[in-house]
Amino acid sequence: MNVAFLGLGSIGLPMARRIAGAGLPLTVWNRTASKAADFARESGARLAETPAEAARGADIVITCFPSSRELLEVMAGEQGLMAGLARGAVLLDCTSGDPANSRMIAERVEVHGVSFMDAPVSGGVAGAVKGELTVMCGGEAETLERVRPVLETFGKKIVHCGDVGTGDALKAMNNALLAIHVWSTGEALATLTKAGVDPAIALDVINASSGRSNTSMNLFPERVLTRAFPRTFRLALLEKDIGIAAGIARELRVPSPITQLAAELFTMARAELGEVADHVEAVRIVEQWAGTEIIAGPARGDSA
Ligand code: NDP
Repeated sequence: MNVAFLGLGSIGLPMARRIAGAGLPLTVWNRTASKAADFARESGARLAETPAEAARGADIVITCFPSSRELLEVMAGEQGLMAGLARGAVLLDCTSGDPANSRMIAERVEVHGVSFMDAPVSGGVAGAVKGELTVMCGGEAETLERVRPVLETFGKKIVHCGDVGTGDALKAMNNALLAIHVWSTGEALATLTKAGVDPAIALDVINASSGRSNTSMNLFPERVLTRAFPRTFRLALLEKDIGIAAGIARELRVPSPITQLAAELFTMARAELGEVADHVEAVRIVEQWAGTEIIAGPARGDSA
């Protein structure tokens, strides 16, 4: 089974490493060619100079770009992905894309005898390194069975969500919850800090109580209290995800004031913090507005 992987970014790179590590024949392409060359040297993967060359001869072509828009760009043109996709191949898109574009791409490739599956992932860079990602699959059940051996190299929980686009929809809603948790946990802890509670104590209690979430249990202790704010998942990508989620809810006429507001807050945070900031850095805006920092230590009461 020949596999091609395009898009060796923060999460794509460790996913490709897992595929190569499992011994599957792998060809890679990346827009910044030096990253693909480094990876090919390290892993023994074949290096392709163009998306078309990567796709040629591949049974499964995996893509992992920021959004569906970049996938559409990479598909186009004489040296684009479409030019190399072989009849009978599967285009497996691990981008956190949007359902409407995924449905359009599926129709476009099906005409050429290619099956499409949206397969966004969750679990972060650490999950990819360990091969423990959750993979949300949209498309034919039969397509999922064909790609399952590749998904199992980096995924632990592999779920068939429904038709094309449903994987994207589920991923977008999951990430909307993540964005809401980051912002609301920031508000709660900034308030408690100003009320004189050590945020480490506050988190200890919340994490043993009903307000806890992955954000309060892992992200805040490891990234906010320590002020480490490691850059693993760009805020710009989370803003894109919650924008997709808000759009789906509007399209389906689901009243969703919290999702819509959080989408606006993250758009503002992206404008303020830029394209390379990590998603947890949105807390910096909450802190700025509150006039405090969420730092573990003796209570720093503020009577203001
Ligand atoms: P990065 O920004 O780190 O990497 C993006 C990749 O896409 C790079 O390989 C980049 O190439 C390539 N790319 C960007 N624009 C273009 C373009 N116009 N044409 C061709 N290639 C392009 O993103 P991540 O790896 O973090 O995320 C990838 C996807 O996975 C996103 O949809 C994200 O939402 C999702 N995701 C990310 C997680 C994470 O923890 N990072 C977790 C779960 C999902 P180049 O090297 O040249 O910049």
